[in-house]
Amino acid sequence: MSGVYLHIPFCRQACTYCDFHFSTAKDHAGVLDAMELEMIKRSRELGDGRVATIYFGGGTPSLLEPGRIASFIQQARDLFRVERDAEVTLEANPDDITADRLSEWKSAGITRISLGTQSFRDDRLRWMGRAHDARQALTSIDLIAKAGFTTWTIDLIYGLPEMTLAEWDEQLTIALDHGMPHLSAYCLTVEEKTALAHQVKKGGVHMPGDEDQSVQFDRLMARMEEAGLEHYEISNFGRPGHHSRHNKSYWEGIPYLGIGPSAHSFDGRSRRWNIANNAVYIKAVKEGTSYWEEETLSPAQRTNERLMTGLRTAAGVDLTRLEVDALGLNSSAFQRHVSNGHISVVDGRLVLSKAGRHFADRIASDLFVTDDDR
Ligand code: SF4
Repeated sequence: MSGVYLHIPFCRQACTYCDFHFSTAKDHAGVLDAMELEMIKRSRELGDGRVATIYFGGGTPSLLEPGRIASFIQQARDLFRVERDAEVTLEANPDDITADRLSEWKSAGITRISLGTQSFRDDRLRWMGRAHDARQALTSIDLIAKAGFTTWTIDLIYGLPEMTLAEWDEQLTIALDHGMPHLSAYCLTVEEKTALAHQVKKGGVHMPGDEDQSVQFDRLMARMEEAGLEHYEISNFGRPGHHSRHNKSYWEGIPYLGIGPSAHSFDGRSRRWNIANNAVYIKAVKEGTSYWEEETLSPAQRTNERLMTGLRTAAGVDLTRLEVDALGLNSSAFQRHVSNGHISVVDGRLVLSKAGRHFADRIASDLFVTDDDR
């Protein structure tokens, strides 16, 4: 079983914090044609060709004509054995949502909408450089809820400069009042070479301290638990039956094929990442020359990836599937995190406690192994 990811590298405008690959060019045809060609050329890479999830990410896939989305889905169905109940997600921004578009996406085979809400406040949205306003965010949610999708999700960002706990609480209340079945909540991080990084460097923006962000994360966990949404991954909360199957497959090490500029692929042993340059990508796909880099993972690297992704999930890391005994090799780090109450082993799985969820990545890296350790 596998997943297919399509990276649509276009956005209406650049959000200040974003380091994904995208362009604001208006002409999309060259890249999209090359992506269709890439999918044909690489269709054999997915073993038995069974596909359980398709994910349109970006960038802003909702910028495309719905007909183009439909033709990608049809092409995937022609090339792979796409399951009848496959999860087909479209990332969409509120400024692209209309009742007609939702209906067209649904007819095309989209089963799940991931809405880039980010905030319900105009001042925050303007500060982030988003192309939508708060009214559009709320209207979009209502339209999606009425459009009859199997499921949908929204994104929110916390840890913003000068964000108070009351402001974050209000954001969560608005989201819950609109009946979302799933929420992805991300703490704002300053990525290199973004407009935000420049503003921070120049002293125009002061990021909040770890303590403020940590208190907001605690409130997020408490509010979602109270509302009955399961905290199944550090940044993801869903009602039963509404967890993202596509993202879950990344965390479980299931193979996926990434199509488009900057898209990543994984076949179970090696990772591949396409060039993050639209013009070079188009030319190379057409001419049949290389447009990617590839790395075959060693047993230690595969073990570390499992620790890094698995520890972020509520299900934890299945210790019987680790190729290298990370806990044996790093027993002092393991004991330290057990004694401070951050991790435990339950039924053969390494899991984080609620307190440990604040430090998931740090704990995982403390347990990392090298091939020399073995
Ligand atoms: S819309 Fe999404 S991908 Fe595009 S710039 Fe904003 S955050 Fe980045």
